[in-house]
Amino acid sequence: MKYYVLTLGCHMNMSDSERLTTVFTNMGFTRTEQEEEADILGIIACSVRQKAIDKVYSRIHLWNKWKKDKSLITFVTGCLLDDDRKKFLKTFDLVFETNDIAGLPEMISQYGVVTPTGLKGHHEQGEFWDINPSYDSKYEAFIPIQNGCDKFCTYCAVPYTRGREVSRPSSEILEELKCLVDKGYKSITLLGQNVNSYGLDKKGEELSFAGLLEEIGKIGEASDDPFWLYFTSPHPRDMTRDVLETMAQYKCLAKQIHLPLQSGDNEILQKMNRNHTLADYRKIVTNIRELMPEATLFTDIIVGFTGEEGDHFENTRRAMEEIGYNMAFIACYSPRPGAVSSRWDDKITMDEKKRRLHVLSDVFIKSAGRFNEKLIGKTLPVLVTGTSRDGSRLAGLTEGKINIQFSSDKEIKPGSFVNVRVSGSTGISLQGEFSGE
Ligand code: SF4
Repeated sequence: MKYYVLTLGCHMNMSDSERLTTVFTNMGFTRTEQEEEADILGIIACSVRQKAIDKVYSRIHLWNKWKKDKSLITFVTGCLLDDDRKKFLKTFDLVFETNDIAGLPEMISQYGVVTPTGLKGHHEQGEFWDINPSYDSKYEAFIPIQNGCDKFCTYCAVPYTRGREVSRPSSEILEELKCLVDKGYKSITLLGQNVNSYGLDKKGEELSFAGLLEEIGKIGEASDDPFWLYFTSPHPRDMTRDVLETMAQYKCLAKQIHLPLQSGDNEILQKMNRNHTLADYRKIVTNIRELMPEATLFTDIIVGFTGEEGDHFENTRRAMEEIGYNMAFIACYSPRPGAVSSRWDDKITMDEKKRRLHVLSDVFIKSAGRFNEKLIGKTLPVLVTGTSRDGSRLAGLTEGKINIQFSSDKEIKPGSFVNVRVSGSTGISLQGEFSGE
């Protein structure tokens, strides 16, 4: 039998999808990318944008039409708001939480599909974290370390769709990491809505985030297989100095930090319920520069949030100029269903939001360019990820996740570490020449 899964949204959902693949494989199902030939059709949904939820409605409408001619089982899981969940209960055969993925064989067996794992009781199938994911890549993997969020930013619905923060036992995380390192994985990312509040829900019983990084650092020191460990995304509120000190101490902890700023204006930050000021954020950046001067800094920014006037925006522009990012993911604000701010006005026109986005893009491109210029002449370790679009050169990422394209006479497989001499910079990316393995 065949199954088809449509995964919408962020890395968390993609990571859930890797676990779902394992459950289906254990049931003897094969995956298909052609939904017409599947016996089981499912969606890992995302509620962050209305467009993604509209997609769920249009798929199930189509699949329910097909049901008139053949027998199909449909399911939906992922980030769902209560209102949508209630509606989906009427249109999908199965609606369940991602944490219940392990119980899928049992749920499916209620539809008369008997599978080897479906015969077992739920307790025998284990829990969500026990499922070994089927990784999509041979050298890059994501490890979920925590689910849910307690922060309640006013523009976000995640605390309502994924529930409160729950940390995964560190013993399992370290086990999964060791396995990946032994298999030769080179880029491993710890995933969570707020990775650095890891352990706070089990204070005294579980490691802190810095403690978890330290254990990973030790695994890196003891291993002959080099790897880079990343995490995303931390919240500035919980970015304590011990996390940065630990990062600085261990080689395998990649010197790259994605630290969302969202706005550089205190009034807007308060309205977003971010619970920190620009001064707090600045202090973290000062610590990063002091402890890891070579680190790259990425961020997320929202422009045109409710009430963002010219002065507020100017403060964000200035903050970005001062901090100097290597990468900024800038989004035009749009109300998200289920979020508190969806009840507030959204009067700033899309044209104005786009104008602000372009202003900020220019700022970050310039600062990334300045950073990259300084790398010219240096030799850096690079993780090969493929080839340039025209196929003439190899492509890869530096430890700081800067894209680099380089010439090489040797054929080098994606997933290999090589040394590349940086010969030039094209704004946010680099160019270079292979200089050894
Ligand atoms: S944006 Fe805020 S509320 Fe949403 S997941 Fe991140 S920290 Fe939690």
